[in-house]
Amino acid sequence: MCLKYYEALIRDGGFKVGTVEEASCLSYLFDRRVEVGEEVKLEELYPTPNHHRVYLNSLDLLRGGWPTPLLKISERPKEAYAKLEWYNPFSGSVKDRTVYYLLKSVEGDRLVEVSSGNVAIALAALGNVMGKRVKIYIPTAGKYVTPLLDFLGAEWQVLDVSMTVEALEHLEKDIREGAVHPNQFGNDLNFIAHLRTAAEIDWQLSAVGRRPDYIVAGIGTSGHASALGFYFGVRYGAKLIAVQPKDWIPGIRRAESGMKWIKYVNAEILDISLSEALEGVREFARRHGLLIGPSAGAVYAAFSKIEYQGTFVLVFPDSLFKYTALLEQLR
Ligand code: PLP
Repeated sequence: MCLKYYEALIRDGGFKVGTVEEASCLSYLFDRRVEVGEEVKLEELYPTPNHHRVYLNSLDLLRGGWPTPLLKISERPKEAYAKLEWYNPFSGSVKDRTVYYLLKSVEGDRLVEVSSGNVAIALAALGNVMGKRVKIYIPTAGKYVTPLLDFLGAEWQVLDVSMTVEALEHLEKDIREGAVHPNQFGNDLNFIAHLRTAAEIDWQLSAVGRRPDYIVAGIGTSGHASALGFYFGVRYGAKLIAVQPKDWIPGIRRAESGMKWIKYVNAEILDISLSEALEGVREFARRHGLLIGPSAGAVYAAFSKIEYQGTFVLVFPDSLFKYTALLEQLR
């Protein structure tokens, strides 16, 4: 992993590329070819928004649509800003970022992946515009996503397992037959994609003269929470509060089920139950009028419990609209 180079770049705001290895690490992050001898700047990761909001194609809509909004949701002494990731256009979730980075780099035009929802939609959708055919294995709880995958033209199979990671062993046959596995759980590009998300938030907060003391985010692969925890930890000494489900909450899981990137960060882990998460959704909707997804509700519920004071960034991975069938079942 390229962590020590990323750490230096984030800490110093710039990095003089000395070796081929450093150039390759920074090429992944900057999403372009970086040469030995170049001096790269952290600012290059900041977004370049398209003010007129006219886009030339749907991929341009993704990149030109960044930054996604950062909404102030509470005042001092617990001042908080929520990153509204459902503003990403393909899956309406934070996973557009991961999948865009994965698809830019994986070889082959036939892909196979496991997902309980957002990655499946993002892969199918971005696959269509980036020339990849995808097959997705889905745990039982993710089956609500299958009609959407049909519209997108992706192949899918629902498996009788409860967690997405448990579906991984079903990929072997497809991989033997030539399909490529982007591997959202193990591919460092997932983490790297979200170093850019962190730089984006840093840039947004600088507009209001703020730096985060705490990041509150849910953990599934741990990609976005770990990357934000790492970036803001290195840059400002901020602390990550990682939110895991006490029982079950769609999109997130417990740290002990095995996660690659969370160990890069000194995180405090908080348990939230499904009913607390849904209470978080309800409270946020009543207070701000926005329908956040269950994992965002968990993040909001965690924030409400925390007794620390300071500036907080909360990541809201998606909205509630995909979960209406699930909510109907829970009634
Ligand atoms: N919340 C939702 C709704 C998700 O779909 C996911 C991941 O799929 C997460 C949270 C967790 O994100 P990460 O995989 O970056 O840990």
